[in-house]
Amino acid sequence: MPMFVDTSPPGQCIFCRLVAGEIPSAKVYEDALTIAFMDIGQVTPGHVLVATRRHAATLLDATPEEAAAVMQTAHRVALAVQAVFDPPGLTLLQANGTLGGQTVAHFHMHVVPRHEADGIALTWPRKEPPAAVLAGYAERLRAAL
Ligand code: 5GP
Ligand code: ZN
Repeated sequence: MPMFVDTSPPGQCIFCRLVAGEIPSAKVYEDALTIAFMDIGQVTPGHVLVATRRHAATLLDATPEEAAAVMQTAHRVALAVQAVFDPPGLTLLQANGTLGGQTVAHFHMHVVPRHEADGIALTWPRKEPPAAVLAGYAERLRAAL
């Protein structure tokens, strides 16, 4: 469970207030659909958040245009982060729901420069089920698309 979770209602959440200029931020970029600003936590130097301007709680609440725009802005920001901070690695992270690791319920993507022993960890317990199980999952997903 994350240490801090912003439970503010839509329109009053931290990022909505930041978009409205009601709380200060170190802004990097903005366009019609997105805003990019320095993450207050700076897990590593150059850590940027890219968020939708409109309040969409998670990826599932964003429109296809907003989802595409966030990725497009993240790509632009990633190129700038690489040029300025020159990290040996770069991770994009996008969390949804408390169990997904999301602490601010306003759709956003992290652009995080990565370094040797930077303390960032995500455990990834592989299961490797049989091919028939994968085929079954894929069939269900194709039917839902
Ligand atoms: P999440 O855990 O939801 O993926 O990411 C939320 C991020 O928002 C955290 O990394 C946290 O540091 C950042 N954050 C929380 N409050 C503020 C704030 O007021 N200003 C800025 N710039 N970042 C914030
Ligand atoms: Zn919001």
